[in-house]
Parts: sequence; C-alpha cells; structure tokens
Amino acid sequence: MNCKEVAELVSQSLDRPLTLRQRLCIRYHLWKCEWCVCYKKQLQHLKECLGQFEQGVCDGSVQPHCALSDQAKARIKKILCERDPSE
Ligand SMILES: [Zn+2]
Repeated sequence: MNCKEVAELVSQSLDRPLTLRQRLCIRYHLWKCEWCVCYKKQLQHLKECLGQFEQGVCDGSVQPHCALSDQAKARIKKILCERDPSE
C-alpha cells in the first residue's frame, strides 16, 4: 500500500468504518511512514475543528465570518476539493 492509498483510506475512515484488513494495512504503513502519520493527525484535527465549528454556529456561540482564520479556511477548502465526490 502506498501513501496515496493510505491517505484515501484515512479520509474515508472519517466517514465510514474500514475493514479490519484496511485498518491493519494503515497501521502498518503509519508505523514506517511519518508523512502519513502527519496527514492522519491533520485530518482528525480538522474533523474536530469542523465539528466544533458547526456546533458553535448552531448554538450561536460562533460567528461564521470570524471563527476561522484565512489559513484554516484555505486548508479546509483544499481538503474538501481534493476529496473524491463519488465517496
Ligand atoms: Zn505514507
């Protein structure tokens, strides 16, 4: 399994559970690949941020236009654009 495949599976894992085999493959790859470890952390962090952001918008504690820095917005946009729409 190469980095691209791992990255795809990791992003899929945020939306749906992976098979045991897929998870084992990812774990094995992460064990030897620092890049994918970073990618996974970033995605998980982003998902947490998005969740908190949505929650904040819903309960009114966050103003959408000022809640995220431009850098964070650009990062989210990039990740969303890179996602396969057929997922
Ligand atoms: Zn990798």
